[in-house]
Amino acid sequence: MFDYCIVGAGLFGSVFAYEASQKGKKCLVLEKRNHIGGNCYTKELENINVHSYGAHIFRTSDEKIWNFMKQFCEFNHFINSPLANYKGTIYNLPFNMNTFSKLWGISTPQEAQNIITKQKALIQKEPENLEEQALSLVGKDVYEKFIKGYTQKQWGRACKDLPKSIIRRIPVRFTYDNNYFNDPYQGIPKGGYTKIFEKLLRQSEVRLNTDFLRHKKDFEKISRKIIFTGTIDSYFEYQFGALEYRSLEFKEELLDTPNYQGVAVVNFTDENTPYTRIIEHKHFEFGTQEKTIISKEYPKAWSQDIEPYYPINDEANQALYEKYKALAQKEHKLIFGGRLGEYKYYDMTDTIASALKLCERELV
Ligand code: FAD
Repeated sequence: MFDYCIVGAGLFGSVFAYEASQKGKKCLVLEKRNHIGGNCYTKELENINVHSYGAHIFRTSDEKIWNFMKQFCEFNHFINSPLANYKGTIYNLPFNMNTFSKLWGISTPQEAQNIITKQKALIQKEPENLEEQALSLVGKDVYEKFIKGYTQKQWGRACKDLPKSIIRRIPVRFTYDNNYFNDPYQGIPKGGYTKIFEKLLRQSEVRLNTDFLRHKKDFEKISRKIIFTGTIDSYFEYQFGALEYRSLEFKEELLDTPNYQGVAVVNFTDENTPYTRIIEHKHFEFGTQEKTIISKEYPKAWSQDIEPYYPINDEANQALYEKYKALAQKEHKLIFGGRLGEYKYYDMTDTIASALKLCERELV
């Protein structure tokens, strides 16, 4: 008999499995993919750690979570400083004085502020859609070059037809600072993420290529409790309907060149380039290999047979999720967690925080 059957060997399930095992609990971890690590998984190709499910940059503002992770890895000094490529011209991100200087040929924060204030003022009424919202927050130039095409590709719809709630604020810095994040702790685990998961799961029994939902009854019989980190609606057989997601497709290429784009992440912000980003994996770890591996990210509409990546937390989906959550609360042996189980866009730090909170409640 297992104390816990943990469905999903991603970050939530693996952190829970580690803490439970430390408390002497017997854990069975089931994973339907052929590897551990969930979307944080990295694989080694040509001596390069490839982020198979998109760029994963660890950052947190919580010292406790930073220290938790440091038990399992050493972080390097990577700082995410992505670039925007708009029709072949390169700009710095996030929007900061380097971006504005290139965009308008100016040099001082006051000049940049004056231009943005003037452009913002052109939108006088309360914004009704994403386009008007963005124009009212940053003005025409930043919107048209960096937001419009990228957002349309991401969502598969014109910005005029997207709700303004998608963009509540657009961070703009009037300093020459290209660090994408504000968190005090940031880095990439040396040697990739998968090694962290090997350590987290060392004391658990792990079964790969195993879909819990296909053998639900059998696993329920041999476990005192289930921790489910798959999609909450799939567990309940979509009885109220399916929750919606956005998906992505990653196309990897091995190139016979040591340095393709000179930086880990480039966003392609025009409408016509079909992908949104190119990741060059070696730059996450300052690689000097002779070859390089890049991934192009193509946004994709989601359907039930492809990977769900980003929950669409609009009103309709949120209301649907609440119905499943109410159903879940009636089940005593069952706990939902993680990005898919809680239907929340969780970064890694949020996922770890949520898993550790569950451990505090559950592992007394
Ligand atoms: P997952 O990683 O999705 O793990 C859930 C696991 O459950 C999966 O492996 C799945 O196969 C398995 N599963 C589902 N159903 C079943 C079933 N029925 N039976 C068996 N197994 C099942 N966070 C950051 O902090 N920094 C970043 O830079 C960053 N970049 C990201 C980029 C992309 C493209 C995406 C999608 C996410 C990114 N994240 C990032 C978020 C990060 O990936 C998540 O916080 C984290 O992976 C969530 O872990 P999880 O365990 O909840 O979910």
